[in-house]
Amino acid sequence: MNREKIIVIDFGGQYNQLVARRVRECNVYCEIYSYKTELDKIRQMKPKGIILTGGPDSCYREGAASCERALFELGIPVLGLCYGAQLMMHVLGGHVCKAPVREYGRIEVTVNSSSPLFANVEKKTICWMSHNDYIERAAPGFEVIAHTPDCPVAAVQWKEKKLYGIQFHPEVLHTVEGTRMLSNFVYEVCGCAGDWRMDAFVDNTIKTIRERVGGGRVLCALSGGVDSSVAAVMLSKAVGDQLTCVFVDHGLLRKNEGDEVEEVFGPNGPYDLNFVRVNAQERFYGKLKGIEEPEQKRKIIGEEFIRVFEEEAKKIGAVDFLVQGTIYPDVVESGLGGESAVIKSHHNVGGLPDYVDFKEIIEPLRDLFKDEVRKAGLELGIPQKLVYRQPFPGPGLGIRIVGEVTAEKVRMVQEADAIYREEIAKAGLDKSIGQYFAALTNMRSVGVMGDERTYDYAVALRAVSTVDFMTAEVSQIPWDVLGKVANRIVNEVRNVSRVLYDVTGKPPATIEFE
Ligand code: GLN
Repeated sequence: MNREKIIVIDFGGQYNQLVARRVRECNVYCEIYSYKTELDKIRQMKPKGIILTGGPDSCYREGAASCERALFELGIPVLGLCYGAQLMMHVLGGHVCKAPVREYGRIEVTVNSSSPLFANVEKKTICWMSHNDYIERAAPGFEVIAHTPDCPVAAVQWKEKKLYGIQFHPEVLHTVEGTRMLSNFVYEVCGCAGDWRMDAFVDNTIKTIRERVGGGRVLCALSGGVDSSVAAVMLSKAVGDQLTCVFVDHGLLRKNEGDEVEEVFGPNGPYDLNFVRVNAQERFYGKLKGIEEPEQKRKIIGEEFIRVFEEEAKKIGAVDFLVQGTIYPDVVESGLGGESAVIKSHHNVGGLPDYVDFKEIIEPLRDLFKDEVRKAGLELGIPQKLVYRQPFPGPGLGIRIVGEVTAEKVRMVQEADAIYREEIAKAGLDKSIGQYFAALTNMRSVGVMGDERTYDYAVALRAVSTVDFMTAEVSQIPWDVLGKVANRIVNEVRNVSRVLYDVTGKPPATIEFE
């Protein structure tokens, strides 16, 4: 497709996906490519602009991640961010070296607001810095357009050639006016029209899928999660009853979730999906009996899921297309960034089987970030409640129960989690906290209830928020809310007598328990 796009060239920076997301938030489509991508390939893509990301290397080191001088001579606007800026200066004849003072964190930057990059940006603006090296001297032809007390060259431009470099990170939200700077780059410098909109994307994708599928038969595994739901609805709009959706209820879903999925996607719901629900709870509990090791539990759940799906697929017979809910971060993380191959390895997210009989894979969400998948879901009329549901690990509650999984333990964690979510929503915190859930620990302890000794389980509550998806901070839930949740859990959930709150961030902990 010939859509207007910006290309992000990745030098291994922590925030590279964030750069692309921020550009897309400006309604400009954006893809990420490795710095090893051939210049010719970049030229052929006809990008409206190029952004070079940050990176851990030092550009003056022998063998450092680099780019050709010709990249800056294509006549395409380039914006270098941190490492990208240093590299641009290094390649074009400036001087980059170890900085006498390294800068880290929020720093006040003084900018020259007559530069198009800083149009409508305050003269003194807080930016996120993270560097050991610095640009000691800009390359010939460049003008310095920002500085800090420790960084004489915090931004440079060569206006006529549309080359820009900034030492800080506009993509990180701590850079207060970062989005404005990126928007200035794509609109003022690159002259983008801003045609990346979810409504248009949804319409176009539906049209393209319809043409591709023709009269073929399509099979989709529906987990009830956001990605597969959006993919399924998109397919149903494109090909109607040529689609069959198989929903495997493995008994490790949140309380009532299986029924909620059926309500929306089943025969009485608003969509036409040929919905098949497989109630495989007992089968999964049977397989998990006596298993305590987390990796082993994950494997068993994953494999069993495939088995069940495969059996159902056999009943349906050969299909032409298999739908997968692969999203853009999966593509980038698997190192396939932007390759337009139709088939990504099947072993992504859901890990679907090779041996289901199908000819091709359809991945309608392959170009989208999670927040865009949600927007597409809303465009398709999927209920808010479903689109904004809490993230859920593939193996479900199986890894929120520490140790052996039993039907009884699933009941406890489901009930505790439902109470937790209900009270969080009642307190109006559900929009502000990133991710929150209850887990069941493997610990039993002595308690007293109705004057009698008890020996029951402890539930752990967790709530975290994350800005960059790599790290997570513990959310501070008000004490009275926690108290109420704890009180309700020990009163309403049989065999739970203690409630703990997890105050560990990531790292060193992970978000999930196992
Ligand atoms: N490695 C370079 C430095 O330390 C660039 C850092 C970055 O891109 N965040 O200055």
